Amino acid sequence: MTITQFASNFYILDDQRVREFLILGKDHALLIDTGFSDTPILDEIRKITSLPIEVVLTHGDGDHTGNLNQFKVCRFHQAEETKINPTIPFYFLKEGDIIDIGDYQFKIIEIPGHTHGSIALLEIHHQWLLVGDTVQKDGPIYMFGGHRNLELYIKSLKKLMNMKDQISILLPSHYDCPISTNYIDYCLEDAVHLKDGELESSPHPKMPCREYQGKHVHFYY
Ligand SMILES: [Zn+2]
Repeated sequence: MTITQFASNFYILDDQRVREFLILGKDHALLIDTGFSDTPILDEIRKITSLPIEVVLTHGDGDHTGNLNQFKVCRFHQAEETKINPTIPFYFLKEGDIIDIGDYQFKIIEIPGHTHGSIALLEIHHQWLLVGDTVQKDGPIYMFGGHRNLELYIKSLKKLMNMKDQISILLPSHYDCPISTNYIDYCLEDAVHLKDGELESSPHPKMPCREYQGKHVHFYY
C-alpha cells in the first residue's frame, strides 16, 4: 500500500489495484471507499490518524467495500443498499448533499450507470472530482452483469460534461490519478460507440463478458 499526501489533510491510499481517499477533519476523518477485503485498510489508516472514521462509498463493488464491517458508520446512495448489504449503521446520500470535513466540502453528484447508485464527490473549493470507476484512463471499465446500465452511464457522462467548468481535475479510483477532465469526453465517446456496436471485441478469458476496445478506454461488457 502506498500512502501519498495529495494536499493538506488529504491522503491517497493506493495498493496498485484500487485507491481510497482519506481526509482529516477536526474531530473525525472521512474515508472514501474501503478497498479490497485483503487490504488491511484500518491498519494503514492508523499510520496516519487516530481520529474516528466515517466512511463514504462511491459505489458498492467489492473492490470499494472490503472490510467495511471494521468501521462504525458509512454513507452511500440508497440504490447501492442491496449490493453493499452493510452490517454497520448507514445513512443514504443523494444529489446535492454536502459533506463538510475540515477545510474541504464535498458535493454529492449522482452518476448512475457503472452501478445504479454510483456517486461522485465534487470538492467545491479546489474543484476536484472524485469520480469512482465512472471515468478512468485506459480502463477496463466494468459494464457487465447486474447493477450496470450503459444508457444511464452515457447520461451520467453527459451530466459531467455539462459540469466541466466546475471541475479542475479528476481523481479516479483506478489507474492514473489525477487525470484531466478530457477523460470525461473520452469515456463518453467510447461508451457511445460501445452502445452503437461499433467497438471491436474479444471474449474475456475468465469473466462472463467481452472486452471492447475503444479509442481511449476499454470496457468489460
Ligand atoms: Zn472499482
